[in-house]
Amino acid sequence: MQRVVVVGAGLAGLQTVVALRGAGYAGALTLLGAEPQPPYDRPPLSKELLRGEIDDSTLDADWRTLRVDLQLGRAATGLQDGAVVTGAGPVPFDGLVIATGASPVRLPGESSAMTLRTSQDGHALRQRLVPGARLVIVGAGWIGAEIATAAVAAGVQVTVVEAAASPLAGSLPADCGERMLPWWSGVDLRLGSSVDAVEGDAVHLVDGERLAADVVLVAIGVRPDTAWLAGTEVTLSPRGAVAVNAGLRTTVPGVFAVGDCAAWDSSRYGTRMHVEHWDNALRAPAVAAANLLGAAESYDPVPYFWSEQWGRMVQYAGHHPAGDRVVWRDEGERWAAFWLAGTRLVAALTVDRPRDLMQARRLMTDGREVDADRIADPAVPVKAAAV
Ligand SMILES: Cc1cc2nc3c(=O)[nH]c(=O)nc-3n(C[C@H](O)[C@H](O)[C@H](O)COP(=O)(O)OP(=O)(O)OC[C@H]3O[C@@H](n4cnc5c(N)ncnc54)[C@H](O)[C@@H]3O)c2cc1C
Repeated sequence: MQRVVVVGAGLAGLQTVVALRGAGYAGALTLLGAEPQPPYDRPPLSKELLRGEIDDSTLDADWRTLRVDLQLGRAATGLQDGAVVTGAGPVPFDGLVIATGASPVRLPGESSAMTLRTSQDGHALRQRLVPGARLVIVGAGWIGAEIATAAVAAGVQVTVVEAAASPLAGSLPADCGERMLPWWSGVDLRLGSSVDAVEGDAVHLVDGERLAADVVLVAIGVRPDTAWLAGTEVTLSPRGAVAVNAGLRTTVPGVFAVGDCAAWDSSRYGTRMHVEHWDNALRAPAVAAANLLGAAESYDPVPYFWSEQWGRMVQYAGHHPAGDRVVWRDEGERWAAFWLAGTRLVAALTVDRPRDLMQARRLMTDGREVDADRIADPAVPVKAAAV
């Protein structure tokens, strides 16, 4: 292997070049990034950056030691004859890792509202969060919740429009979202409400109501950035992610995919997993890099993510659709939900209970069975619920 190209200079792209060099790869290494700046961290964009605590979340990288040809502002537009096609000419490879992440989904026919994905988006939004401003957020998902938290703290009047009957409905069962409802008391939360149109300074709802807005922000999810692979031999999943096997290999030999843009075959869950969270972008690259260099490793993690909202640390690990019942662990404001498949723990959601989450994640990684009564008891350490 002489020429490796990594497309996408986000967390997963950076981790890939670090892992390749860490594994001893000594050949040419090119990292192509569509954005003009070096890789940065996205989670702070809806947290510390919006709160005005930081201005920059650039990831640490020793580019000289990495010996990477970092080409920024250079987007891949296709693959042809063993080369990545770009506007500035082809970049030949004999090993390729796709790490192009995801982009926000917009409302059909709408292009004026803000979204939050890039550092530029974060700075633009922060400028608009001034006391008294009227912000309408479309979508009460993870990003919508974090933006609403920062906006309320900045003295902004926040309305959140959500089509589902509970917050976070895209990723959690309704009974979890319903438990979180009191957290949203500082905003005008419109559940079961859909947007008809966004027009300059207003959001028009399907029921005819007009919400006046100084700022409109759409946060209804993301879609893998894979349009540039259309017409290539790289197979995509029905949701448009790059379909990879347990070794993170695509359908094209020598081509791998990692991070938000990839969906892998999980034998742990018996399904294709597509996870758009930080921990996945951090960890998958080591497996892709090892396999690109000839190893035969499998990537089959217990997925993990966190969210900081309404002064709380919300954490999740596992895959709750694999469960057949939920067990609650209640201690006032600090609660947890555990999903079991029979007696096997398959997912955990915790609110301000980081130790519970850590222990649950370990039990899941080890495939342990648990006693449902003990895991429901806040006086019993989660690890002590293992049978
Ligand atoms: C505001 C925000 C807050 C978040 N908070 C959390 C959190 O609290 N917890 C959590 O677990 N996760 C969080 N996430 C998700 C997490 O940041 C992502 O899962 C992670 O960034 C994915 O990394 P990635 O490298 O796969 O993709 P990305 O970070 O999207 O990077 C992909 C890069 O590829 C570039 N690219 C795209 N197309 C091309 C092309 N054709 N050619 C060249 N380059 C291209 C993109 O411009 C981008 O720079 C958050 C995300 C956002 C946006």
